[in-house]
Amino acid sequence: MSKKEKQFVEDITPMEVDFPQWYTDVILKTDLVDYSPVRGFMVIKPYGYAIWENIQKYMDKRFKDTGHKNCYFPLLIPESLLKKEAEHVEGFAPEVAWVTHGGKEELPERLCVRPTSETIICSMYAKWLKSYRELPYLYNQWCSVVRWEKATRPFLRTSEFLWQEGHTLHETYHEAQEETLRMLDIYKETAEQLLAIPVVTGRKSDKEKFAGAYATYTMEALMHDGKALQAGTSHNLGQHFTKAFEITYLDRNGELQHPYHTSWGVSTRLIGAIIMVHGDNRGLVLPPRLAPIQVVMIPIAQHKEGVLDKVYELKQLLGDDIRVEIDDNDNYSPGWKFNEYEMKGVPIRIEVGPKDIEKNQVMIFRRDTLEKQAVPMEGLRETVLKLLDDIHDTMLERARRHRDENTYDISDFEDFKKKMEERPGFAKGMWCGDRQCEDNIKAETGATIRCIPFEQEDLGDKCHFCGKEAKHMVYVAKAY
Ligand code: AMP
Ligand code: ZN
Repeated sequence: MSKKEKQFVEDITPMEVDFPQWYTDVILKTDLVDYSPVRGFMVIKPYGYAIWENIQKYMDKRFKDTGHKNCYFPLLIPESLLKKEAEHVEGFAPEVAWVTHGGKEELPERLCVRPTSETIICSMYAKWLKSYRELPYLYNQWCSVVRWEKATRPFLRTSEFLWQEGHTLHETYHEAQEETLRMLDIYKETAEQLLAIPVVTGRKSDKEKFAGAYATYTMEALMHDGKALQAGTSHNLGQHFTKAFEITYLDRNGELQHPYHTSWGVSTRLIGAIIMVHGDNRGLVLPPRLAPIQVVMIPIAQHKEGVLDKVYELKQLLGDDIRVEIDDNDNYSPGWKFNEYEMKGVPIRIEVGPKDIEKNQVMIFRRDTLEKQAVPMEGLRETVLKLLDDIHDTMLERARRHRDENTYDISDFEDFKKKMEERPGFAKGMWCGDRQCEDNIKAETGATIRCIPFEQEDLGDKCHFCGKEAKHMVYVAKAY
């Protein structure tokens, strides 16, 4: 083992040895988060928050380009509102945190800390909506929500998480369904084009759907260890909430109608996905389009005349639209800095020393493949822009290959059980559609039906899990 590899091993547990420990080491060593005094709640540090901001920036633009506007609803929801939609309250009640006192006084009605905002938003929509002319309502809010989760892990599942929640109203079922799928498409595009994460999209089973939804659609990603992660969901809520909350409007014929309703959300869980899809034993590998630092420039022998000047000159040349940082802190050696920025997953490192300057070149190191090469200073901006795109494509392709290599057909329940034990991944099989069969899959293997994918394949006419007549092809996996 080289000295450098040893150093990484000291800092970060190898993922093959202990994947959960690797994850914990990475997020703490790279300063993304810290634990807080309240169990299950996390502190997002500047480096982690900068990643979230870049996700927000990208998605917010996509939402606005598709006609949505941002707004803000209160954190607290009266108990009576939460209770209005029966399935919803039943689904969320076990995870709700309650406010019972204001100062010393007990409140006449308990207030829940929003686990999601359908109820409070619908209560306001009921007050506002009058006529079909105002439809559709296309609103989104960026906020945090609280769900009292039993087992938590930073980013992946926390008791408070940051997210966006879109809440829309439409005249027809068809329009609501279109919106639900449009937003899922935007999520998929974000996963692939920003996070470099390939996803499988499809519908959730009734058991796994959102409490109160007519149908839930999801994108599922496969992590390095072969476990799946639900990375985002979009719900067609039908008229469940609009009836319960008595949201009505006068339609084109002057008749009173309930509108159709959707909601959709992604959260800081996406950061967990980035870490677990792309990371390696050296630490983070950040997709270039969202990396807070896209290029780090490290001067070599920086006390020598002309080196720092050249580095600053080259930074100018790279332009404002590339996120470049120069590390000219002379309390640390270049070698130490190389390790540090590799661990932090910075996509490109540029080294500039006296010898390079003599030759009018720089050394470029790319984090995804760990390759290093000399490139001319001339045209550096174009070289870097091209390389950032190339790194993105390489990362997406690598993640796709990993997913495909860990996706397999199953022949029967025994075969499925064996594969789940030996090599977790996405198992593709036919399913009868019965709840009991689905419960049994979970009881026997711990795996769950992740989705009924849009891209159906015909893998037989019998349910692979119970032998009854098959209805759909499904993806089954152990999940976070
Ligand atoms: P939901 O409203 O339950 O459909 O949640 C929307 C999205 O938020 C899910 O698809 C997850 O990606 C994410 N999410 C749900 N629960 C948590 C949690 N406890 N921590 C972080 N993200 C979560
Ligand atoms: Zn079955």
